[in-house]
Amino acid sequence: MGIKTVKFGGSSLADAEHFKKVADIIKSDPERRYVVPSAPGKRNKNDTKVTDMLYETYRLARSGMGVGAVEAAYQRICDRYNDIIRGLGLNFDISGELEYIKQAMLLRRVGHDFAASRGEYLNSLILAKYLGYDFIDAESVIFFRENGQVDMELTKCAMSDELAKHERAVIPGFYGQMPNGTVRTFSRGGSDITGSIVALFSGSDLYENWTDVSGVLMADPRIVDDPLGIDLLTYRELRELSYMGASVLHEDATFPVRNAGIPINVRNTNRPDDKGTMIVRSAPDYDRRHVITGIAGKKGFSVVTIESDMMNSEIGFGRKVLEVFEDHGMSFEHLPSGIDTMSVILSTAQIAGHEDQIKSQLERAVRTDSVTVEHGLALIAVVGRGMVKTKGTAARVFKAVSDAGVNIRMIDQGSCELNIILGVSEEDFENAVRAIYREFVG
Ligand code: ASP
Repeated sequence: MGIKTVKFGGSSLADAEHFKKVADIIKSDPERRYVVPSAPGKRNKNDTKVTDMLYETYRLARSGMGVGAVEAAYQRICDRYNDIIRGLGLNFDISGELEYIKQAMLLRRVGHDFAASRGEYLNSLILAKYLGYDFIDAESVIFFRENGQVDMELTKCAMSDELAKHERAVIPGFYGQMPNGTVRTFSRGGSDITGSIVALFSGSDLYENWTDVSGVLMADPRIVDDPLGIDLLTYRELRELSYMGASVLHEDATFPVRNAGIPINVRNTNRPDDKGTMIVRSAPDYDRRHVITGIAGKKGFSVVTIESDMMNSEIGFGRKVLEVFEDHGMSFEHLPSGIDTMSVILSTAQIAGHEDQIKSQLERAVRTDSVTVEHGLALIAVVGRGMVKTKGTAARVFKAVSDAGVNIRMIDQGSCELNIILGVSEEDFENAVRAIYREFVG
């Protein structure tokens, strides 16, 4: 019998009804032995995720707003969990746990990450009880290094040993332990990473990631009406898409499983019969109907353009330019260059407010004729392993965008031909995405 690690997102565990669906899914396949839950998510559009409620309660406790305000905020969190327990008809008392967490926050004995992590911790206790599975605290099996990276060696030892003792277990997502013993969380959405680590060290054959959509879509449904789902994609394609904003999995979630080649299957808790998207190490073929696998993109980029006559012959020019950005701790996205111009594309969030400093430092670092900074750029990634094998894909992308009346301000295609990146003005972003989708999908 194989082993599956199954991770359920917050929307799949937002209330008792969802817990029941999750339990049905787990129980319907005996291979689903290791379960990684998120904290309860939104029950409807106007609802708040428990993780956000915890952050808010922690903020109130730190700001000295008074015990009353903290207790009121915390009570809403207790209500969420108590409603779930009641709705499941469970005889399970978590009042001691709830009280301990509240006091720890009020007495300022714990940090921000500990507070946030309790969403997953409590949800996992309840799910373990409901399923009759063992509970393994993530704190005892996931270890971070001082720099915030997961210590995979230590984690491997601890987790493999622990999992071997449990036929079936629930392990909370999102957090682990720092070398000094405190709790640390991953970045938001990080339960996906926990699931991937558990899949790796449990020797799972498959990592199922259950969410509220039937897999990865070819485009953002807020931009394209009813986009098609992607049946199969590679880890690298997913990485390109999620880096550029497709938000199905945490962008770092593939790393633990990809070397081991464990496939990830993204599934929909509300439509368990849908096959979802399978994410694999390599796929020799591609979807010939559409050629491309997906389109993703983001707004909020800026372009710093440096013009300098004879730049091409000046050895070290690029290094000196990039050092200026490095000194400011800014990372760049793309570096399109001409004979006498070099453009550095980076997120506006990094450069906003520092434009003048950057300009004068660049002027000191290299000989320039002009340095300009423009904001308002959006980047679009057209991704697909099929592009390398298909002539004319780039021409189709550019024609579609230009037929839609959109001016392309930047083009970048890596030599691996897995993606074509376009830069367009932010106001043209949605139009360009729709035009490319129409061209390839219809
Ligand atoms: N609960 C955390 C968040 O809302 C982590 C997760 O759901 O993966 O970001």
